Amino acid sequence: LPSSIKDEIHQLYQDIPNLSNDYELIDKIGEGTFSSVYKARDKKDKLTSKYYSHFWSDKKYVALKKIYVTSSPQRIYNELNLLYVLNGHNKVAALCDVMRFRDQVVAVLPYYPHEEFRNFYRDLPIKGIKMYMWELLQALNFVHSKGIIHRDIKPTNFLFNPDLGKGVLVDFGLAETQLDYDLDLQGRVNKDYRNHEQFCPCILRDEQNSVIQTNNSRNGSLVTIQNGKVVHLNNVNGVDLTKGYPKNETRRIKRANRAGTRGFRAPEVLMKCGSQTTKIDIWSVGVILLSFLSRRFPIFQSLDDTDSLLELCAIFGWKTIRKCASLHGLGFTVNGLKIKEENYPNGLKDFVYELLEKECAAGTFPDYSIAFETHGYLEHELHGRNSIEPQVMGRISNESARAAYELKRYQEEVWSDHYWCFQLLEQCFEMDPQKRSSAYELLQNAFFNELRE
Ligand code: ADP
Ligand code: MG
Repeated sequence: LPSSIKDEIHQLYQDIPNLSNDYELIDKIGEGTFSSVYKARDKKDKLTSKYYSHFWSDKKYVALKKIYVTSSPQRIYNELNLLYVLNGHNKVAALCDVMRFRDQVVAVLPYYPHEEFRNFYRDLPIKGIKMYMWELLQALNFVHSKGIIHRDIKPTNFLFNPDLGKGVLVDFGLAETQLDYDLDLQGRVNKDYRNHEQFCPCILRDEQNSVIQTNNSRNGSLVTIQNGKVVHLNNVNGVDLTKGYPKNETRRIKRANRAGTRGFRAPEVLMKCGSQTTKIDIWSVGVILLSFLSRRFPIFQSLDDTDSLLELCAIFGWKTIRKCASLHGLGFTVNGLKIKEENYPNGLKDFVYELLEKECAAGTFPDYSIAFETHGYLEHELHGRNSIEPQVMGRISNESARAAYELKRYQEEVWSDHYWCFQLLEQCFEMDPQKRSSAYELLQNAFFNELRE
């Protein structure tokens, strides 16, 4: 291990004195804005039997998510609470345990061996894409049935194992409950989930840090639950986390409801619409599917909301975006830009094929993203992530024949399923959130027929 990671691991052992009794840290596996994630060995094997029979996770290991102390207590509470509420569905990461010492909180999840999206999105056969989407939509169908919006659907938050064709949704750090959520207004959601039972309640600890595993001895535990909600996390010293630590907490807790990741935000988020729904996650699912089909990742690059809307204009035409804005009572004008007016006649299929053909003509492999020039004119074109170096030039021309061949093969493969696949894509990119399909509806698409028993 690099010494910087060794230092971090050493620090974590010091931050949480009891950690080393139960877990042996092995490596660092992720780092985000609000956390670091480590792979660890479960020394006492106490998590195995209860959790792992139902999951494809690796029995010997756990993932320890160290939530940065700079996160507000409300944010930590929110994430843990939602993980707790969602515990028990096999497409959502299970919460096995929570450890806390002073202001340091560590969530313990099963370790899911997965592959990074950028290593498979170009080569995954259509069957694999199908399984990826199926798993992701199953997870969302469940999450949405609880009235919860994930808000940050993107490949790094959905751990997929291409060999097994299995996936699990992680990272509820930005998730929130939809305020006016009503199952009937929401359209069809899977009603089977409404009263789902938590077959694997998370391990709860009392003041002596010993494990209490029964559901009805929750008082005095690290996590206190009332009416199915975590109401407070009292630590070994009796400090109530949800009330803030340290005592005079001054950090802002208000979260803008545009929370999410650039490139994955739905138009209603970009337009800062007040009443956002679970449908914002469905848009993000569309962005992932578009990456698979066009073999480009990331597909949208803009840093701010206005430029992101221009990116959408370049695909859907500004008239479509203007219509979308009017749904939310907004006007939308673009001045001084040469900008695409209408949507493609055959929708996103034309767009995807245009990209694939360009790539083929250029004889390049598709580690390219679409960059949109917004100064004075607007046209989508392909830009290499890095400028092409002379050595690489040789490789590209040698490989152009192969690229052409691969494109043909790929088009043929998609073709057999292409009608349903592009229908699915269009359903995700419906501008009107009310008309946009729910996860449940998308799962009914004939694209998934081959996966149904
Ligand atoms: P953040 O809030 O910092 O984005 P995440 O929960 O998304 O944290 O985790 C960050 C990364 O850590 C993930 O993208 C993934 O690579 C890895 N990771 C998280 N949880 C697990 C897990 N249970 N098993 C394996 N890897 C995980
Ligand atoms: Mg994440």
